[in-house]
Amino acid sequence: MSWPEGEMRAFLVDAARQGSWRPTRMPDPAPGTALVRVRAVGLCGTDAHLWTGLSPNLQRGLTTYPWQPGHEWCGEVVAVAGGAVGGHPVVGDLVVGDPFVTCGTCEVCRRRGRAAHCPNRVEIGVRGHAPGALAEFVRVPVANLTRVPDGVRPIEATLAEPATTALHALDVARLRPGGDACVIGTGTLGLIAIQVAVAAGADVSAVGVDDAGLALAESIGATVARPGELAGGAFDTVIEASGARTSLAEASRLVSVGGSIGLVGYPAEAQVPIDAAGLIMAGASLHGVLGGIDRMRDALVLISRGVIDPAALIDGVHGPERAAQCLDDLMSSRARPKLVIAWEPGELSAQGTETRA
Ligand SMILES: [Zn+2]
Ligand SMILES: [Zn+2]
Repeated sequence: MSWPEGEMRAFLVDAARQGSWRPTRMPDPAPGTALVRVRAVGLCGTDAHLWTGLSPNLQRGLTTYPWQPGHEWCGEVVAVAGGAVGGHPVVGDLVVGDPFVTCGTCEVCRRRGRAAHCPNRVEIGVRGHAPGALAEFVRVPVANLTRVPDGVRPIEATLAEPATTALHALDVARLRPGGDACVIGTGTLGLIAIQVAVAAGADVSAVGVDDAGLALAESIGATVARPGELAGGAFDTVIEASGARTSLAEASRLVSVGGSIGLVGYPAEAQVPIDAAGLIMAGASLHGVLGGIDRMRDALVLISRGVIDPAALIDGVHGPERAAQCLDDLMSSRARPKLVIAWEPGELSAQGTETRA
């Protein structure tokens, strides 16, 4: 199929809490990119902060209105500019995409494993002029696409993007079978980290403040506790996935001698307390985690095997016309953390998630 021209419909946010579906220009066929017909989009805290106008990206001019959301998505390739590229997805493939589009030439990009931190990057649906997937179509570099395995539905595949971040956090915090792991926070990233750590054979504890989140964490195999309740110095692997002001102090209290903390929860304030003496005495490591570039395939395999179980994560699947309502709803508490927008009528019921709950 040739690259469609003309207009498409997209959800554009003009100011805090003001967005609507309206016609916009179809993306141009830039060399090395594919046009994807969007089938499902997951919404997360990053979207909530941009929607409410509180994101530091807005203050720093890294994201500007009108903003087109959508960085956790699944869709079907409808065109590839310049034709198919060997080894990459082709027209008709169901795909997910890494939102980080990096320059590839700066010093950060050339250092292996650090490309997500490229200072020149755009993030599709988040940062720079890179319209997101809350639209009929999204344009993505073919190199950023990963094919979705058979049997994984689009609404489930939207979990691949957040899962890559959770996987990266578990890597840097050196999760190992039989090890003691503690996950702070029971949102999407925390729950995915728990599911993966339990499946990997770790003994997993979860710390949270939200009753529904703690109940979910317990249902997927974690021992649950509130902040301050667990014994200090007991965990080789600690994932801080809450972003709460006091959580880094709690993480540095919980980490064992020689243990590692993966810091993924983005705090509302840049400066938060930390138990520096505890970290020094334990000889523990603290690793910041921005994204999980290169882990899409692993994330999709874990979803296809049911290790990452959408039933514990997705609260509801809604039609595109409810986009503004869903962005508002991100701010209030729910039984499960994730809201998904989906296009096909057959996917509008939360059938897959309800029946497996
Ligand atoms: Zn996200
Ligand atoms: Zn770069």
